[in-house]
Amino acid sequence: MAEVGVMPSDVRYVIPTHVHLDHAGAAGRLLREMPNAEVIAHERGVPHLVDPAKLIESSTRVFGESIMALYGRPDPVPAERVRGVGEEEHLDLGAGLSVTIIHAPGHAPHQVSVLVDGSRSLLTADAVGIVYPGLSALIPTTPPPSFNPSQLVATIGALRQMSPGELLVPHFGARSDVDWVFDRTAELVESWVDQVSRMRKLKMGLDQAAESMEKAVASDAGVGDLPIYAKVSVRTSVMGIMHYLDKNP
Ligand SMILES: [Zn+2]
Repeated sequence: MAEVGVMPSDVRYVIPTHVHLDHAGAAGRLLREMPNAEVIAHERGVPHLVDPAKLIESSTRVFGESIMALYGRPDPVPAERVRGVGEEEHLDLGAGLSVTIIHAPGHAPHQVSVLVDGSRSLLTADAVGIVYPGLSALIPTTPPPSFNPSQLVATIGALRQMSPGELLVPHFGARSDVDWVFDRTAELVESWVDQVSRMRKLKMGLDQAAESMEKAVASDAGVGDLPIYAKVSVRTSVMGIMHYLDKNP
């Protein structure tokens, strides 16, 4: 920010798309540096930003204690500095720039995506799958504890209706092949849920199911073996699907 001449005190809004630690873990810390900023988040995420205790508990339950060493413990966001939004909200940023914040559940119930109105660039959040640099396969983003497949597919439909010209994807980068990313995400979410459901009926556990999906992704990408970070993503997504199937047998 200093390199482009923006002072932390110039920042008015911090908009974490959802409260998962890799997206919002530093929100409280950033606010300490940005005295004039307020946080804007989906109303269902606000309680977790103000009091991250449950978020820390659920993250360590899913990923183990090491997750806190990797990400650091999130600082609470002061309640008076966070504003919740609902289904859709228009935000005027000044200087002719405005964004539309839209509820985008499925990956998590408290997720939003953000459309930059003029450029029609859509900050998707994790509503679309992960594509790692150098690995030409899409991995669905279906983590525990709150992944919901029908909501995720409905969200992709709603985002498509906004006619974005490009997608700004946190995992990873700007994509102009908008339809492909939407189509492939929806297709793989449904097919992974089917496949994991069948594996569960065969009494396969997490390790076996994750290994099987890793092989599918490796073959899709045309590589012999996946890098460790891609394996972690696959395993997390399989875990989320299993968790969903436990709750919705
Ligand atoms: Zn996430």
